[in-house]
Amino acid sequence: MKALVKAKAEPGLWLQEVPQPKPGPGEVLIRVLRTGICGTDLHIDAWNEWAQTTIKPPLVVGHEFVGEIAELGEDVESVYVGELVGAEGHIVCGRCRNCLAGRRVLCANSVGIGVHRDGAFAEYIVMPAGNVWPHLSSPREIGGSAEISRGPRGIDLDVASIFDPFGNAVHVATQYRLVAEDVLITGAGPIGLMAAIVARHNGARYVVVTDVSEYRLELARKIGVTLAVDVSKTRLSEAQAELGMKEGFDVAFEMSGVPSAMRELIDNMAHGGRVAILGLPEHEFPIDWSQVVFKMLTLRGVYGRQIFETWYQMSVFVQTGLDISPVITHRFPYRDYKEAFAIGHSGKCGKVVLDWSE
Ligand code: ZN
Repeated sequence: MKALVKAKAEPGLWLQEVPQPKPGPGEVLIRVLRTGICGTDLHIDAWNEWAQTTIKPPLVVGHEFVGEIAELGEDVESVYVGELVGAEGHIVCGRCRNCLAGRRVLCANSVGIGVHRDGAFAEYIVMPAGNVWPHLSSPREIGGSAEISRGPRGIDLDVASIFDPFGNAVHVATQYRLVAEDVLITGAGPIGLMAAIVARHNGARYVVVTDVSEYRLELARKIGVTLAVDVSKTRLSEAQAELGMKEGFDVAFEMSGVPSAMRELIDNMAHGGRVAILGLPEHEFPIDWSQVVFKMLTLRGVYGRQIFETWYQMSVFVQTGLDISPVITHRFPYRDYKEAFAIGHSGKCGKVVLDWSE
């Protein structure tokens, strides 16, 4: 099969012919239809410091995907051949305290597809059946949460292909109650934008998004945020004044990993404000902890997705009209991956999707 491989410990990715994987007991083979390019994939392509210490070539990269079940391993009954599925890309150990308690998102030993083991930028991928999330209605009854995940009209394949980052956005945006709250989102990348859409859907009053990329701020305006603020020119205090806000933001999502964004965020929180942090800073940095104390702020790190509560919520949000498709700005056949990655690196894009179905 064709796959995008980190074949050598140097910048670049290579489209190669590799052996098609076989599903073992409890596993399924999935024919990949669409994949999303993540910042992680860009780091692996560019071979930055993180990638050099984490990735062991040769490795099939990629973790955001949708596909259909092509083959069942032994003892798999939860899905059927032909079913449209996504999958949770973190494969947990099943043995640690958190796993045993059902808190799989907190497994300290989880293994990530496309990072620690072969990923989804390929014509086929093998996944444990227990990681699979069904997307569409089918003649067969599975029962439970799977039932409600199936919309009557099915789901757009491009949208389904980015459930992984959509899940990051939903996981962040569901940390706190948003009804009638004023929400600040620092960072207008695809996850920040999707979090803005979720905040709107879940009843926030003002949704203010910051970035320094005019392209991404324009995208934020297109999806209907209250204000998209270029923080290279405008202070958040001015944005607050423009909206008639007096006491600061009630809830914030830090999606940039940029120290100045975090500091300005803290400056602009209301007393009792709640902050969820997904942005990964490159290095450690100081913040004004006395403001955290005096304002009684809650700061919470967020990672991955609740398995599978976040997936359930995503499916329900899509079913109830939440539309993340404006965040997808570019689509390429997988053979044009070089162009797709160049667009990704340029930052003049929302989500970039590769089509593997040809
Ligand atoms: Zn575990």
